[in-house]
Amino acid sequence: MTRKKTMWTVGVLVTLVVAIIFLWIVTNENRFEDELLIQDVSRLSPTKVKEVVQGKEAEGLIEAVQLAQKENLKVSIGGAKHSQGGHAFYKDSVWLDMRGYDKILNFDEKEKTITVQSGATWKQIQDYINPYGLSVKVMQSSNIFTIGGSLSSNVHGRDPRYGTLIETVDSFRLLMADGTVKEVSRTDNEELFPLVIGGYGLFGVILDVTLQLTDDVFYVSEMKQLNYEAYASHFQQHILADETIGLHYARLSIAPNSFLEDMYLTNYKLVREDNELYPVDEMTFDQLTTLEEEKNVGRNKFLFNLSRKFDWGKGMSWYVQQQFLSDEGLILSRNNAMSPFIEFLEYESAKNTDILQEYFVPLDQFASFVDGIREVVDSEDLNLLNATVRYTKASDEGFLNYAKEDTFAIVLLFNHPLSDVGIDHMEQATQKIVDLALAHGGTYYLTYQLYPNPTQIRAAYPEIDAFFEKKRAYDPDERFMNQFYEKYNPRN
Ligand SMILES: Cc1cc2nc3c(=O)[nH]c(=O)nc-3n(C[C@H](O)[C@H](O)[C@H](O)COP(=O)(O)OP(=O)(O)OC[C@H]3O[C@@H](n4cnc5c(N)ncnc54)[C@H](O)[C@@H]3O)c2cc1C
Repeated sequence: MTRKKTMWTVGVLVTLVVAIIFLWIVTNENRFEDELLIQDVSRLSPTKVKEVVQGKEAEGLIEAVQLAQKENLKVSIGGAKHSQGGHAFYKDSVWLDMRGYDKILNFDEKEKTITVQSGATWKQIQDYINPYGLSVKVMQSSNIFTIGGSLSSNVHGRDPRYGTLIETVDSFRLLMADGTVKEVSRTDNEELFPLVIGGYGLFGVILDVTLQLTDDVFYVSEMKQLNYEAYASHFQQHILADETIGLHYARLSIAPNSFLEDMYLTNYKLVREDNELYPVDEMTFDQLTTLEEEKNVGRNKFLFNLSRKFDWGKGMSWYVQQQFLSDEGLILSRNNAMSPFIEFLEYESAKNTDILQEYFVPLDQFASFVDGIREVVDSEDLNLLNATVRYTKASDEGFLNYAKEDTFAIVLLFNHPLSDVGIDHMEQATQKIVDLALAHGGTYYLTYQLYPNPTQIRAAYPEIDAFFEKKRAYDPDERFMNQFYEKYNPRN
Protein backbone atom coordinates (compact mmCIF):
# COMPACT_ATOMS: atom_id res chain seq x y z
CA MET A 1 0.00 0.00 0.00
CA THR A 2 1.39 3.41 -0.89
CA ARG A 3 1.92 6.01 1.85
CA LYS A 4 -0.76 8.22 0.26
CA LYS A 5 -3.32 5.42 0.27
CA THR A 6 -2.54 4.56 3.93
CA MET A 7 -3.00 8.19 4.97
CA TRP A 8 -6.31 8.30 3.11
CA THR A 9 -7.54 5.08 4.79
CA VAL A 10 -6.52 6.35 8.25
CA GLY A 11 -8.30 9.66 7.52
CA VAL A 12 -11.51 7.87 6.53
CA LEU A 13 -11.33 5.62 9.62
CA VAL A 14 -10.78 8.58 11.98
CA THR A 15 -13.71 10.46 10.39
CA LEU A 16 -15.91 7.38 10.77
CA VAL A 17 -14.95 6.90 14.43
CA VAL A 18 -15.60 10.61 15.19
CA ALA A 19 -18.98 10.41 13.39
CA ILE A 20 -19.95 7.26 15.33
CA ILE A 21 -18.95 8.85 18.68
CA PHE A 22 -20.91 12.00 17.77
CA LEU A 23 -24.00 9.98 16.82
CA TRP A 24 -23.73 7.93 19.99
CA ILE A 25 -23.54 11.05 22.14
CA VAL A 26 -26.52 12.63 20.36
CA THR A 27 -28.72 9.53 20.53
CA ASN A 28 -27.77 8.75 24.13
CA GLU A 29 -28.12 12.33 25.35
CA ASN A 30 -30.77 11.32 27.86
CA ARG A 31 -28.41 8.84 29.52
CA PHE A 32 -26.27 11.73 30.69
CA GLU A 33 -29.22 13.52 32.21
CA ASP A 34 -29.46 13.37 35.96
CA GLU A 35 -32.57 11.31 36.70
CA LEU A 36 -33.17 13.31 39.85
CA LEU A 37 -33.16 16.63 37.99
CA ILE A 38 -36.80 17.30 37.12
CA GLN A 39 -38.06 20.09 34.91
CA ASP A 40 -41.21 21.02 33.08
CA VAL A 41 -41.68 21.75 29.41
CA SER A 42 -40.63 25.42 29.83
CA ARG A 43 -37.25 24.38 31.34
CA LEU A 44 -37.44 27.48 33.56
CA SER A 45 -36.94 25.81 36.92
CA PRO A 46 -34.91 22.59 36.86
CA THR A 47 -35.09 21.09 40.34
CA LYS A 48 -33.24 18.29 42.03
CA VAL A 49 -35.48 15.88 43.90
CA LYS A 50 -34.36 13.36 46.51
CA GLU A 51 -35.99 10.31 45.03
CA VAL A 52 -38.17 9.33 42.10
CA VAL A 53 -41.03 6.90 42.71
CA GLN A 54 -42.59 5.48 39.56
CA GLY A 55 -46.36 5.36 40.01
CA LYS A 56 -47.51 1.84 39.11
CA GLU A 57 -50.05 0.63 41.66
CA ALA A 58 -51.94 2.46 44.41
CA GLU A 59 -50.17 0.36 47.09
CA GLY A 60 -46.75 1.63 45.96
CA LEU A 61 -47.93 5.24 46.05
CA ILE A 62 -49.47 4.79 49.51
CA GLU A 63 -46.23 3.24 50.75
CA ALA A 64 -44.19 6.12 49.31
CA VAL A 65 -46.35 8.74 51.06
CA GLN A 66 -46.24 6.82 54.36
CA LEU A 67 -42.47 6.49 54.14
CA ALA A 68 -42.09 10.21 53.34
CA GLN A 69 -44.19 10.95 56.44
CA LYS A 70 -41.99 8.72 58.58
CA GLU A 71 -38.80 10.30 57.26
CA ASN A 72 -40.30 13.79 57.24
CA LEU A 73 -39.72 14.32 53.53
CA LYS A 74 -41.81 16.45 51.18
CA VAL A 75 -43.78 14.81 48.37
CA SER A 76 -44.34 16.32 44.91
CA ILE A 77 -46.39 14.92 42.03
CA GLY A 78 -45.76 14.99 38.27
CA GLY A 79 -47.90 14.11 35.27
CA ALA A 80 -46.87 15.12 31.74
CA LYS A 81 -45.10 18.21 33.22
CA HIS A 82 -46.72 20.75 30.92
CA SER A 83 -47.51 23.14 33.73
CA GLN A 84 -44.77 25.76 33.61
CA GLY A 85 -44.11 27.10 37.08
CA GLY A 86 -42.65 24.22 39.06
CA HIS A 87 -46.15 23.09 40.08
CA ALA A 88 -45.20 19.47 39.49
CA PHE A 89 -42.02 19.14 41.58
CA TYR A 90 -40.17 20.43 44.63
CA LYS A 91 -36.55 20.45 45.76
CA ASP A 92 -35.36 17.43 47.79
CA SER A 93 -38.81 15.88 47.67
CA VAL A 94 -39.95 12.36 46.96
CA TRP A 95 -41.22 12.88 43.42
CA LEU A 96 -44.12 10.72 42.29
CA ASP A 97 -43.93 10.18 38.55
CA MET A 98 -47.56 9.33 37.80
CA ARG A 99 -47.15 8.47 34.13
CA GLY A 100 -46.94 4.71 34.74
CA TYR A 101 -50.14 4.71 36.80
CA ASP A 102 -52.28 4.71 33.70
CA LYS A 103 -54.73 1.80 33.48
CA ILE A 104 -58.32 2.08 32.29
CA LEU A 105 -60.21 0.62 35.26
CA ASN A 106 -63.84 0.71 34.22
CA PHE A 107 -65.92 1.74 31.24
CA ASP A 108 -69.70 2.02 31.21
CA GLU A 109 -70.84 2.48 27.62
CA LYS A 110 -74.49 2.93 28.55
CA GLU A 111 -73.90 5.47 31.32
CA LYS A 112 -71.10 7.06 29.22
CA THR A 113 -68.53 7.11 32.00
CA ILE A 114 -64.95 5.92 32.29
CA THR A 115 -62.72 5.34 35.33
CA VAL A 116 -58.99 5.67 34.79
CA GLN A 117 -55.82 5.83 36.86
CA SER A 118 -54.67 9.43 36.99
CA GLY A 119 -51.44 8.99 35.01
CA ALA A 120 -53.43 8.02 31.89
CA THR A 121 -53.46 10.60 29.12
CA TRP A 122 -56.42 11.89 27.15
CA LYS A 123 -54.96 10.03 24.17
CA GLN A 124 -55.24 6.73 26.04
CA ILE A 125 -58.87 7.50 26.82
CA GLN A 126 -59.59 8.52 23.23
CA ASP A 127 -57.97 5.33 21.90
CA TYR A 128 -60.14 3.28 24.26
CA ILE A 129 -63.52 4.96 23.73
CA ASN A 130 -63.26 5.81 20.03
CA PRO A 131 -64.47 2.37 18.84
CA TYR A 132 -67.59 2.83 21.03
CA GLY A 133 -68.47 6.13 19.35
CA LEU A 134 -67.81 8.11 22.51
CA SER A 135 -65.74 11.21 23.19
CA VAL A 136 -64.39 13.34 26.05
CA LYS A 137 -66.58 16.26 27.15
CA VAL A 138 -63.87 18.71 28.27
CA MET A 139 -60.13 18.50 27.73
CA GLN A 140 -57.32 20.76 26.58
CA SER A 141 -56.77 21.56 22.92
CA SER A 142 -54.45 18.55 22.80
CA ASN A 143 -54.46 15.01 24.16
CA ILE A 144 -50.95 14.58 25.57
CA PHE A 145 -51.74 15.59 29.16
CA THR A 146 -52.44 13.30 32.09
CA ILE A 147 -55.83 13.15 33.77
CA GLY A 148 -54.29 13.92 37.19
CA GLY A 149 -52.46 16.98 35.83
CA SER A 150 -55.58 18.11 34.00
CA LEU A 151 -57.79 17.78 37.09
CA SER A 152 -55.22 19.59 39.20
CA SER A 153 -55.25 22.57 36.81
CA ASN A 154 -59.02 22.28 36.21
CA VAL A 155 -58.45 22.71 32.49
CA HIS A 156 -60.81 23.96 29.83
CA GLY A 157 -61.20 23.24 26.13
CA ARG A 158 -62.87 24.31 22.93
CA ASP A 159 -66.46 23.13 23.37
CA PRO A 160 -68.52 26.26 24.07
CA ARG A 161 -71.24 24.22 25.80
CA TYR A 162 -68.98 23.44 28.76
CA GLY A 163 -67.00 25.48 31.25
CA THR A 164 -64.10 23.82 33.03
CA LEU A 165 -63.18 20.14 33.45
CA ILE A 166 -64.66 19.97 36.98
CA GLU A 167 -68.17 19.93 35.47
CA THR A 168 -67.46 16.56 33.87
CA VAL A 169 -65.85 14.79 36.84
CA ASP A 170 -68.07 12.41 38.82
CA SER A 171 -65.62 11.31 41.52
CA PHE A 172 -62.05 10.36 42.34
CA ARG A 173 -60.02 8.66 45.06
CA LEU A 174 -57.49 10.80 46.89
CA LEU A 175 -54.39 9.61 48.73
CA MET A 176 -54.05 11.96 51.69
CA ALA A 177 -50.92 13.15 53.51
CA ASP A 178 -51.47 10.62 56.34
CA GLY A 179 -51.49 7.73 53.87
CA THR A 180 -55.27 7.13 53.99
CA VAL A 181 -57.42 7.09 50.86
CA LYS A 182 -60.67 9.07 50.61
CA GLU A 183 -63.51 8.78 48.11
CA VAL A 184 -64.26 12.28 46.86
CA SER A 185 -67.33 13.45 44.92
CA ARG A 186 -70.03 16.08 45.16
CA THR A 187 -71.58 14.01 47.96
CA ASP A 188 -68.59 12.23 49.61
CA ASN A 189 -65.95 14.38 51.30
CA GLU A 190 -67.53 17.11 49.23
CA GLU A 191 -65.37 19.92 50.60
CA LEU A 192 -62.34 18.35 48.92
CA PHE A 193 -63.95 18.11 45.48
CA PRO A 194 -63.51 21.80 44.45
CA LEU A 195 -60.25 22.12 46.39
CA VAL A 196 -58.47 19.22 44.67
CA ILE A 197 -59.75 19.99 41.16
CA GLY A 198 -57.68 23.05 40.33
CA GLY A 199 -55.64 22.48 43.50
CA TYR A 200 -52.24 21.73 41.90
CA GLY A 201 -51.55 18.54 43.84
CA LEU A 202 -51.49 20.29 47.22
CA PHE A 203 -54.14 18.15 48.92
CA GLY A 204 -52.95 14.69 47.96
CA VAL A 205 -52.46 12.27 45.12
CA ILE A 206 -55.44 11.78 42.83
CA LEU A 207 -55.55 8.02 42.29
CA ASP A 208 -58.38 7.14 39.96
CA VAL A 209 -60.98 9.34 38.38
CA THR A 210 -64.47 8.77 36.96
CA LEU A 211 -65.26 11.08 34.06
CA GLN A 212 -68.40 11.70 32.04
CA LEU A 213 -68.29 11.14 28.29
CA THR A 214 -70.35 12.31 25.35
CA ASP A 215 -71.03 11.13 21.78
CA ASP A 216 -68.31 11.20 19.16
CA VAL A 217 -70.27 13.12 16.54
CA PHE A 218 -69.22 14.36 13.10
CA TYR A 219 -68.47 17.99 12.51
CA VAL A 220 -68.02 20.06 9.40
CA SER A 221 -65.48 22.87 9.62
CA GLU A 222 -66.46 26.44 9.02
CA MET A 223 -63.93 29.28 8.79
CA LYS A 224 -64.27 33.03 8.92
CA GLN A 225 -61.88 35.94 8.76
CA LEU A 226 -62.64 39.18 10.58
CA ASN A 227 -61.17 42.13 12.46
CA TYR A 228 -60.61 41.68 16.21
CA GLU A 229 -62.99 44.56 17.01
CA ALA A 230 -65.86 42.63 15.47
CA TYR A 231 -65.11 39.34 17.23
CA ALA A 232 -67.04 39.69 20.50
CA SER A 233 -70.34 40.63 18.91
CA HIS A 234 -69.90 38.12 16.08
CA PHE A 235 -69.22 35.43 18.67
CA GLN A 236 -72.33 36.23 20.69
CA GLN A 237 -74.64 36.51 17.71
CA HIS A 238 -73.43 33.71 15.48
CA ILE A 239 -71.49 31.23 17.59
CA LEU A 240 -72.86 31.23 21.10
CA ALA A 241 -76.40 31.40 19.75
CA ASP A 242 -75.80 28.45 17.40
CA GLU A 243 -76.29 25.21 19.30
CA THR A 244 -74.91 23.15 16.44
CA ILE A 245 -71.40 24.55 16.94
CA GLY A 246 -69.57 21.85 18.88
CA LEU A 247 -66.07 23.32 18.97
CA HIS A 248 -64.79 26.84 18.42
CA TYR A 249 -61.48 28.68 18.53
CA ALA A 250 -59.93 31.71 16.89
CA ARG A 251 -56.45 32.93 16.00
CA LEU A 252 -55.08 36.45 16.09
CA SER A 253 -52.47 37.46 13.53
CA ILE A 254 -48.86 37.72 14.65
CA ALA A 255 -47.75 39.02 11.23
CA PRO A 256 -46.14 42.47 11.51
CA ASN A 257 -48.58 44.12 9.06
CA SER A 258 -51.78 42.90 10.78
CA PHE A 259 -50.43 42.31 14.28
CA LEU A 260 -53.23 41.35 16.70
CA GLU A 261 -55.80 42.84 14.34
CA ASP A 262 -56.74 40.21 11.79
CA MET A 263 -58.36 37.07 13.12
CA TYR A 264 -59.63 33.88 11.69
CA LEU A 265 -62.24 31.75 13.38
CA THR A 266 -62.72 28.01 13.20
CA ASN A 267 -66.04 26.38 14.06
CA TYR A 268 -66.81 22.71 14.03
CA LYS A 269 -70.50 22.41 13.29
CA LEU A 270 -72.53 19.33 13.96
CA VAL A 271 -73.33 17.27 10.86
CA ARG A 272 -76.80 15.94 11.42
CA GLU A 273 -77.78 12.54 10.07
CA ASP A 274 -80.33 14.09 7.73
CA ASN A 275 -77.84 16.58 6.30
CA GLU A 276 -77.75 15.97 2.57
CA LEU A 277 -74.96 18.46 2.01
CA TYR A 278 -72.47 16.44 4.03
CA PRO A 279 -73.57 12.82 3.93
CA VAL A 280 -71.42 10.50 6.03
CA ASP A 281 -71.80 7.26 4.13
CA GLU A 282 -70.56 3.79 5.11
CA MET A 283 -67.38 4.12 3.12
CA THR A 284 -66.20 7.35 4.67
CA PHE A 285 -67.43 6.40 8.16
CA ASP A 286 -64.45 4.11 8.77
CA GLN A 287 -62.02 6.72 7.52
CA LEU A 288 -63.55 9.45 9.66
CA THR A 289 -63.57 7.39 12.82
CA THR A 290 -59.95 6.31 12.53
CA LEU A 291 -57.89 8.35 14.98
CA GLU A 292 -55.28 10.39 13.14
CA GLU A 293 -51.66 10.84 14.14
CA GLU A 294 -49.87 14.17 13.82
CA LYS A 295 -48.36 14.61 10.35
CA ASN A 296 -45.56 16.79 8.93
CA VAL A 297 -43.98 17.37 12.35
CA GLY A 298 -40.50 18.08 10.92
CA ARG A 299 -41.76 20.53 8.30
CA ASN A 300 -43.99 22.38 10.79
CA LYS A 301 -41.14 22.52 13.33
CA PHE A 302 -38.90 24.11 10.70
CA LEU A 303 -41.50 26.70 9.68
CA PHE A 304 -42.32 27.51 13.29
CA ASN A 305 -38.66 28.01 14.02
CA LEU A 306 -38.50 30.68 11.32
CA SER A 307 -41.22 32.61 13.09
CA ARG A 308 -39.24 32.37 16.34
CA LYS A 309 -36.32 34.12 14.70
CA PHE A 310 -37.60 36.48 12.01
CA ASP A 311 -40.44 38.93 11.46
CA TRP A 312 -40.78 37.67 7.90
CA GLY A 313 -41.07 34.18 9.43
CA LYS A 314 -44.03 35.44 11.48
CA GLY A 315 -45.58 36.86 8.32
CA MET A 316 -45.07 33.55 6.60
CA SER A 317 -46.46 31.61 9.57
CA TRP A 318 -49.63 33.72 9.50
CA TYR A 319 -49.87 33.26 5.73
CA VAL A 320 -49.57 29.47 6.14
CA GLN A 321 -52.15 29.44 8.95
CA GLN A 322 -54.56 31.37 6.78
CA GLN A 323 -54.38 28.62 4.20
CA PHE A 324 -56.35 26.57 6.73
CA LEU A 325 -59.25 28.79 5.70
CA SER A 326 -59.47 26.57 2.67
CA ASP A 327 -60.22 23.67 5.04
CA GLU A 328 -63.81 24.97 5.08
CA GLY A 329 -66.20 22.09 4.58
CA LEU A 330 -63.88 19.43 5.99
CA ILE A 331 -65.76 16.65 7.79
CA LEU A 332 -64.10 15.15 10.83
CA SER A 333 -65.01 13.32 14.01
CA ARG A 334 -65.07 15.06 17.38
CA ASN A 335 -62.25 12.79 18.59
CA ASN A 336 -60.05 13.80 15.66
CA ALA A 337 -60.94 17.46 16.09
CA MET A 338 -59.92 17.17 19.76
CA SER A 339 -56.38 16.02 19.09
CA PRO A 340 -54.83 18.82 17.05
CA PHE A 341 -51.14 19.37 16.26
CA ILE A 342 -48.81 19.87 19.18
CA GLU A 343 -45.65 17.78 18.69
CA PHE A 344 -44.13 20.36 16.36
CA LEU A 345 -44.12 22.85 19.27
CA GLU A 346 -41.58 20.79 21.22
CA TYR A 347 -38.50 22.97 21.56
CA GLU A 348 -35.24 22.40 23.39
CA SER A 349 -32.85 25.29 22.74
CA ALA A 350 -30.40 25.87 25.59
CA LYS A 351 -30.56 29.64 24.97
CA ASN A 352 -34.27 30.40 24.91
CA THR A 353 -37.63 28.87 25.64
CA ASP A 354 -41.25 29.05 24.53
CA ILE A 355 -43.71 29.83 27.28
CA LEU A 356 -47.48 29.90 27.33
CA GLN A 357 -49.65 32.34 29.21
CA GLU A 358 -53.40 32.62 29.37
CA TYR A 359 -55.67 35.47 30.35
CA PHE A 360 -59.45 35.43 30.82
CA VAL A 361 -61.45 38.61 30.21
CA PRO A 362 -65.21 39.29 30.03
CA LEU A 363 -66.50 39.14 26.45
CA ASP A 364 -67.08 42.88 26.09
CA GLN A 365 -63.49 43.62 27.23
CA PHE A 366 -61.85 41.57 24.50
CA ALA A 367 -60.95 44.28 21.94
CA SER A 368 -59.66 46.71 24.52
CA PHE A 369 -57.58 43.97 26.20
CA VAL A 370 -56.07 43.00 22.85
CA ASP A 371 -55.18 46.68 22.25
CA GLY A 372 -53.39 46.62 25.61
CA ILE A 373 -51.47 43.44 24.80
CA ARG A 374 -50.36 44.92 21.48
CA GLU A 375 -48.96 47.95 23.33
CA VAL A 376 -47.08 45.82 25.90
CA VAL A 377 -45.66 43.50 23.22
CA ASP A 378 -44.48 46.54 21.21
CA SER A 379 -43.10 48.57 24.10
CA GLU A 380 -41.37 45.58 25.73
CA ASP A 381 -40.22 44.17 22.39
CA LEU A 382 -41.58 40.71 23.22
CA ASN A 383 -41.33 37.81 20.82
CA LEU A 384 -44.96 36.70 20.47
CA LEU A 385 -45.25 33.53 18.40
CA ASN A 386 -48.91 32.67 18.59
CA ALA A 387 -52.16 34.08 19.95
CA THR A 388 -55.34 32.03 20.11
CA VAL A 389 -58.72 32.69 21.62
CA ARG A 390 -61.32 30.39 23.10
CA TYR A 391 -64.52 30.88 24.98
CA THR A 392 -64.78 29.67 28.56
CA LYS A 393 -68.33 29.34 29.84
CA ALA A 394 -68.95 30.43 33.42
CA SER A 395 -68.74 27.70 36.01
CA ASP A 396 -69.77 27.85 39.65
CA GLU A 397 -67.55 24.97 40.75
CA GLY A 398 -63.88 25.04 41.70
CA PHE A 399 -62.30 26.81 44.68
CA LEU A 400 -59.65 28.65 42.62
CA ASN A 401 -62.09 29.31 39.81
CA TYR A 402 -60.90 31.34 36.82
CA ALA A 403 -64.25 31.04 35.06
CA LYS A 404 -66.66 32.81 37.36
CA GLU A 405 -68.28 34.51 34.38
CA ASP A 406 -68.31 33.92 30.63
CA THR A 407 -64.91 34.93 29.32
CA PHE A 408 -62.66 34.83 26.32
CA ALA A 409 -59.45 32.97 27.08
CA ILE A 410 -56.52 34.56 25.26
CA VAL A 411 -53.55 32.19 25.01
CA LEU A 412 -50.18 33.76 24.21
CA LEU A 413 -47.06 31.85 23.25
CA PHE A 414 -43.88 33.84 23.80
CA ASN A 415 -40.25 32.99 23.18
CA HIS A 416 -37.76 34.48 25.62
CA PRO A 417 -34.10 34.01 26.54
CA LEU A 418 -33.27 31.62 29.36
CA SER A 419 -30.66 34.08 30.71
CA ASP A 420 -31.32 35.80 34.06
CA VAL A 421 -31.83 39.09 32.23
CA GLY A 422 -34.24 37.45 29.77
CA ILE A 423 -36.24 35.84 32.57
CA ASP A 424 -36.38 39.08 34.61
CA HIS A 425 -37.57 40.98 31.58
CA MET A 426 -40.33 38.45 30.82
CA GLU A 427 -41.37 38.53 34.47
CA GLN A 428 -41.79 42.31 34.43
CA ALA A 429 -43.59 42.27 31.10
CA THR A 430 -45.91 39.51 32.34
CA GLN A 431 -46.78 41.60 35.38
CA LYS A 432 -47.85 44.39 33.01
CA ILE A 433 -50.15 42.01 31.11
CA VAL A 434 -51.56 40.64 34.38
CA ASP A 435 -52.31 44.23 35.49
CA LEU A 436 -53.98 44.78 32.15
CA ALA A 437 -56.16 41.66 32.59
CA LEU A 438 -57.10 42.79 36.12
CA ALA A 439 -57.97 46.28 34.87
CA HIS A 440 -60.30 44.63 32.35
CA GLY A 441 -62.08 42.67 35.08
CA GLY A 442 -60.21 39.53 34.12
CA THR A 443 -57.78 37.04 35.57
CA TYR A 444 -54.91 34.77 34.50
CA TYR A 445 -54.27 31.02 34.40
CA LEU A 446 -52.32 29.71 37.41
CA THR A 447 -50.81 26.76 35.57
CA TYR A 448 -48.06 28.73 33.90
CA GLN A 449 -44.97 30.63 35.15
CA LEU A 450 -44.81 32.15 38.63
CA TYR A 451 -44.14 35.60 37.15
CA PRO A 452 -47.19 37.37 38.64
CA ASN A 453 -46.33 38.84 42.04
CA PRO A 454 -48.07 37.94 45.35
CA THR A 455 -50.25 41.07 45.23
CA GLN A 456 -51.41 40.19 41.73
CA ILE A 457 -52.35 36.62 42.58
CA ARG A 458 -54.46 37.94 45.46
CA ALA A 459 -56.22 40.40 43.16
CA ALA A 460 -56.81 37.71 40.52
CA TYR A 461 -57.76 34.97 43.01
CA PRO A 462 -59.15 36.60 46.18
CA GLU A 463 -59.73 33.07 47.60
CA ILE A 464 -56.04 32.13 47.47
CA ASP A 465 -55.30 32.61 51.18
CA ALA A 466 -58.42 30.67 52.19
CA PHE A 467 -57.24 27.96 49.76
CA PHE A 468 -53.82 27.83 51.44
CA GLU A 469 -55.48 27.64 54.88
CA LYS A 470 -57.56 24.67 53.72
CA LYS A 471 -54.39 23.07 52.40
CA ARG A 472 -52.80 23.30 55.84
CA ALA A 473 -55.97 22.01 57.49
CA TYR A 474 -55.84 18.82 55.39
CA ASP A 475 -52.05 18.64 55.26
CA PRO A 476 -50.72 20.26 58.48
CA ASP A 477 -47.12 19.12 57.88
CA GLU A 478 -47.19 20.52 54.34
CA ARG A 479 -46.23 17.08 53.06
CA PHE A 480 -47.37 17.88 49.52
CA MET A 481 -45.23 20.68 48.21
CA ASN A 482 -44.51 22.47 44.95
CA GLN A 483 -42.88 25.71 43.85
CA PHE A 484 -46.23 27.42 43.32
CA TYR A 485 -47.17 26.96 46.99
CA GLU A 486 -43.68 27.88 48.11
CA LYS A 487 -43.82 31.20 46.27
CA TYR A 488 -47.33 32.36 47.13
CA ASN A 489 -47.94 30.82 50.56
CA PRO A 490 -47.98 33.91 52.85
CA ARG A 491 -46.17 32.02 55.62
CA ASN A 492 -42.98 31.92 53.54
C1 LIG B 1 -48.71 23.27 24.72
C2 LIG B 1 -49.69 23.38 25.86
C3 LIG B 1 -51.05 23.45 25.56
C4 LIG B 1 -51.97 23.58 26.60
N1 LIG B 1 -53.29 23.68 26.29
C5 LIG B 1 -54.19 23.85 27.26
C6 LIG B 1 -55.58 23.98 26.98
O1 LIG B 1 -56.00 23.92 25.84
N2 LIG B 1 -56.44 24.16 28.03
C7 LIG B 1 -56.01 24.21 29.31
O2 LIG B 1 -56.82 24.38 30.22
N3 LIG B 1 -54.70 24.07 29.61
C8 LIG B 1 -53.80 23.91 28.62
N4 LIG B 1 -52.48 23.76 28.95
C9 LIG B 1 -52.09 23.72 30.36
C10 LIG B 1 -52.14 22.25 30.84
O3 LIG B 1 -53.42 21.73 30.64
C11 LIG B 1 -51.86 22.14 32.34
O4 LIG B 1 -50.61 22.66 32.62
C12 LIG B 1 -51.97 20.69 32.85
O5 LIG B 1 -51.76 20.68 34.22
C13 LIG B 1 -50.94 19.81 32.19
O6 LIG B 1 -51.13 18.47 32.56
P1 LIG B 1 -49.87 17.60 32.94
O7 LIG B 1 -50.25 16.18 32.88
O8 LIG B 1 -48.71 18.04 32.13
O9 LIG B 1 -49.67 18.03 34.45
P2 LIG B 1 -48.33 18.40 35.25
O10 LIG B 1 -47.78 19.66 34.67
O11 LIG B 1 -47.44 17.26 35.33
O12 LIG B 1 -48.95 18.72 36.67
C14 LIG B 1 -49.79 19.83 36.86
C15 LIG B 1 -50.22 19.86 38.33
O13 LIG B 1 -50.96 18.70 38.60
C16 LIG B 1 -50.41 18.02 39.74
N5 LIG B 1 -50.66 16.60 39.52
C17 LIG B 1 -50.31 15.84 38.46
N6 LIG B 1 -50.78 14.59 38.61
C18 LIG B 1 -51.41 14.55 39.80
C19 LIG B 1 -52.09 13.53 40.53
N7 LIG B 1 -52.24 12.31 40.04
N8 LIG B 1 -52.61 13.85 41.73
C20 LIG B 1 -52.49 15.08 42.23
N9 LIG B 1 -51.86 16.09 41.59
C21 LIG B 1 -51.33 15.82 40.39
C22 LIG B 1 -48.97 18.42 39.75
O14 LIG B 1 -48.41 18.29 41.03
C23 LIG B 1 -49.05 19.86 39.30
O15 LIG B 1 -49.36 20.68 40.38
C24 LIG B 1 -51.54 23.63 27.95
C25 LIG B 1 -50.17 23.55 28.24
C26 LIG B 1 -49.25 23.42 27.21
C27 LIG B 1 -47.80 23.39 27.55
